[in-house]
Amino acid sequence: MSHTLEELREKLNGINHELLMLLNERAEIVRSIGEIKEKQGVPKFDPVRERAMLEELTRKNPGPFKDAEVKHIFKEIFIASLNLQEEDHKRQLLVSRKKQPESTVIDVQGTLIGGGSQVMIAGPCSVESYEQLRTVASALKDAGIKVMRGGAFKPRTSPYDFQGLGIEGLKMLKEVADEFGLATISEIVHPAHIELAEQYIDIIQIGARNMQNFELLKAAGEANIPVLLKRGIAATLEEFVHAAEYIAVGGNSKVMLIERGIRTYEKWTRNTLDISAVPLLKQETHLPVLVDVSHSTGRKDILLPCAKAALAAGADGIMAEVHPDPQTALSDAAQQLDIPQFQQLWEGILQSGLFAK
Ligand code: PEP
Ligand code: MN
Repeated sequence: MSHTLEELREKLNGINHELLMLLNERAEIVRSIGEIKEKQGVPKFDPVRERAMLEELTRKNPGPFKDAEVKHIFKEIFIASLNLQEEDHKRQLLVSRKKQPESTVIDVQGTLIGGGSQVMIAGPCSVESYEQLRTVASALKDAGIKVMRGGAFKPRTSPYDFQGLGIEGLKMLKEVADEFGLATISEIVHPAHIELAEQYIDIIQIGARNMQNFELLKAAGEANIPVLLKRGIAATLEEFVHAAEYIAVGGNSKVMLIERGIRTYEKWTRNTLDISAVPLLKQETHLPVLVDVSHSTGRKDILLPCAKAALAAGADGIMAEVHPDPQTALSDAAQQLDIPQFQQLWEGILQSGLFAK
């Protein structure tokens, strides 16, 4: 008796369903095997066992599928099974959103960063003198800015360039910030200086050149103040996130990320501002994500549109360099804004309505 097309299709539907159930039953067993292998610490992929299974299947294959097709189909099932085992045991990073869905909010002397609160960090590239710091601090205070930056340990490309005032610079920064009621951030380049940082500043900056200085990251993981980690000059986002994980796994959960431009072939900017890093880092991690418009562009004329783009992309803050007399600055003279230029930038940011404050 021959079947109608409808009847045959009905049968196929039934077989599809049985196959589906069997595949999932198989998947459950695969998962249990994955559990055992995880406990034993043996690799999930076992090529010898896989080949034995394929040989047995082809030996018992009654057709009409050819052996090669049977192998192909089962190979796909094996791949999907291995993926399932790996997915089950994928390590979730402490900094990942999967691990912690709610955004981390960092409190710096009463200024909240993250979770809808944005911060503007401004100040000179390097701490140079009391007078320089006081002029900037006063302008920041008038503008309602709460966090002042200033480098005391400067990792310079050339050993003959100004290396920063070191500990003296940190002391100066603290003294002036206290006078004006500001919080401070400064770069630390040596693991042994973390305790010094806790004494004099409110946020430790780890610079782009040190993003993968693992001993420094580990030391920052033991600090009890927040850390702002800069993206390396040629770091992928994966490397950036793993660098942040070094700090978090050491016990310091107060980590912030900052995109500061990456090196590309483009010459009109000092680096290339990777705006896509902002939504991606916010999606993948729960950490506040900031954008440094000065180091990413190396210019003064396009900071407002870049800052707006960063904020529109979801950035939790902006960093910009300001110097009372940029032409005489001991580092990054070309990119530092003078005070009126900074005030203009800040006005523009506030007027954009993108900065929640
Ligand atoms: C800085 O912020 O002073 C600095 C040196 O930046 P980066 O590490 O991003 O080059
Ligand atoms: Mn600089």
